[in-house]
Parts: sequence; C-alpha cells; structure tokens
Amino acid sequence: MIPRPFEYHAPRSLPDAIALLSRFGDEAKVLAGGHSLLPMMKLRFAEPAHLVDLGNIPELKGIRQVGNEIRIGAMTSENELIWSALLQDKVPLLVEGARLISDPQVRYKGTIGGDIAHGDPANDHPAMMLALGASFVLKGPDGERIVPADGFFLGTYHTALGIGEIMTEIRVPVPAAGTGWNYAKLKRKTGDFATAAAAVLLRMKGQTVAEVSIALTNVGPTALKARQAEDYLRGKALNDAAIAEAGRLAMSICEPVADLRGDVEYKTAMTGEMTQRALRMARSRATS
Ligand SMILES: Cc1cc2nc3c(=O)[nH]c(=O)nc-3n(C[C@H](O)[C@H](O)[C@H](O)COP(=O)(O)OP(=O)(O)OC[C@H]3O[C@@H](n4cnc5c(N)ncnc54)[C@H](O)[C@@H]3O)c2cc1C
Repeated sequence: MIPRPFEYHAPRSLPDAIALLSRFGDEAKVLAGGHSLLPMMKLRFAEPAHLVDLGNIPELKGIRQVGNEIRIGAMTSENELIWSALLQDKVPLLVEGARLISDPQVRYKGTIGGDIAHGDPANDHPAMMLALGASFVLKGPDGERIVPADGFFLGTYHTALGIGEIMTEIRVPVPAAGTGWNYAKLKRKTGDFATAAAAVLLRMKGQTVAEVSIALTNVGPTALKARQAEDYLRGKALNDAAIAEAGRLAMSICEPVADLRGDVEYKTAMTGEMTQRALRMARSRATS
C-alpha cells in the first residue's frame, strides 16, 4: 500500500502546469482531489514518476453563467457544486447527483474534473454529463479543444484526454424552463459507488414527452446514453406502461460486470428500476 516514489510539482498557473506535463510526458499525472488517483498509486495500478498538483491554480475553480451555459472549473469540489445557489437554480440535477457521491470527506476534496477525467464508469458525473449534453474544455501544448461528453468516454479508465492535456472547464447548457430532473442511484450504503443509477432530464408538453434525456451509471464500460428508451418516449404519453417499456429498453443496453454489488442479472434489473424511478420523479418535477 505504498506508492512508488514520485516527484511532486505544484504549479501556480495553467501554462506552468501544461509545461510540466509536456516536459514529463507519460511519466506525469495530474493530481486533483486525489481520491481516485492516490488509491490507484498505493495499489500500484498507477505509477507516475511526477505528480502535477492543480490545487494552486485559481482559474480552475468556480461556477459561473455565460449566456445560456453554466461553466464549472474542473477543480471545483463536489461540495462546492452542492452549495452553489446558481446550480441549485439552473442545473439542480448536478446538485442532486453530487449529494449522492460517496461521503462528506470525499466531497470536500474530490473534484468534478477528476470525477470525469478518471473515466471510471462507476463515477456519477459521466452519466449526468451525458444526460445534460455537457462539453469539456481540454487544454494542452497544442492549444484548446472542446469535446462533447457524448464521445469523450472511450472505455473503462479511457477518455479522449490526450497525454499532457488538462481538463480546465465543464460546460453545461442550462436546461429549458420547466424541465424535470432526477438522479436515481441505488447504492448498498453511504460511501459506496452505484450498483446502478439513472440520470434523467424531461420536458413535457401536456401529458406527452416533448424531450427526454437518459443516461446510466456503472452498467457498461462507460456511462451509457439510453438512446432507444429516449426515442421510444418522445411524443408518447408518459403513463405506467410507457415508463415500464423505457425501463426495459434501458436494461437492453446494459453490460454490467458482476461483483460484490450484484450479478449481471440483478444490476440489469436495477437499471430498469432506477430508470423508471428517475422518469417518475422527473415527471412530477416537470409538471409541478
Ligand atoms: C471511498 C470512496 C467512495 C467514492 N464514491 C464515489 C461515488 O459514489 N461516486 C463517484 O462519482 N465517485 C466516487 N468516488 C470517487 C471520487 O469522486 C473521486 O474524487 C473522483 O473519482 C476523482 O476526483 P479527484 O478530484 O479526487 O481526482 P484525482 O483522484 O486526483 O484524479 C483522478 C484521475 O483524473 C485525472 N485528472 C484529475 N483532474 C484532471 C483534470 N482537471 N484534467 C485532466 N486529468 C485530470 C488524474 O490524473 C487521475 O488520473 C469515491 C472515492 C472514494 C475514495
């Protein structure tokens, strides 16, 4: 449980951080809250010779609105998301989801950028990002690029981030007025990752679905967008039968890995349950 020796770097600006990463290449890793990276280093699944700590770069923190978009610095902690009046008002899905991440200790240090960049399908932000249609600002030696969440997650612990690139900002379009939301997460106990979870955004036109977005946590190599369920629901009356069918369609794309949280069948069934639960809650919030 002791990591390989490494050199610690604490740059005070983004250009300095990028320069360090360029200098050390794949020998370096970015350190954010450390709640995923340090356990991996202790287990020697990750053995970086250099750690570049982003904790002293003020521009990587904060939450602001620019036009119809919320922009969140990658080093913003889970608790800062939860406490944000702007997010509570404009993107309550993120607040609800962040509250369900682990325990207070993890939420004080763990960052939204680290949660996304880690590429762990068990993490909660990836599905929320897919449901929200977010995009990520990545900066590196070759400049800046903006990558949509849909396409960023390439596999387990594998994302579109290149060597030497830093995720600086998360951009979330503000959901239209009247949009209902829910992040339904089944976990065995406080502090645990999801057995299965579903993020839903929903806009109704009378009794029928005008727009819906559904994404799933921890039931595939990456977070999954439940496109068949979404396509099925658009334009339909959102009654019990439609909700049950959407749950079934969400289950049909699951490829969970059996572990102590359950076997494949159980996790798949729980995905259907979470999808149905999230749709019901989003409906009541959309219409209330
Ligand atoms: C007991 C426990 C329970 C947990 N439960 C949950 C849970 O229920 N749900 C959940 O979502 N998460 C959970 N986590 C994970 C937690 O949210 C982590 O904080 C998160 O996965 C990583 O964020 P971090 O800021 O700690 O990143 P770090 O651990 O510092 O970094 C993680 C990885 O991302 C890279 N990275 C970090 N920031 C950037 C950046 N800005 N640009 C480029 N690369 C970057 C690092 O190099 C590293 O590879 C849990 C963790 C623990 C210890």
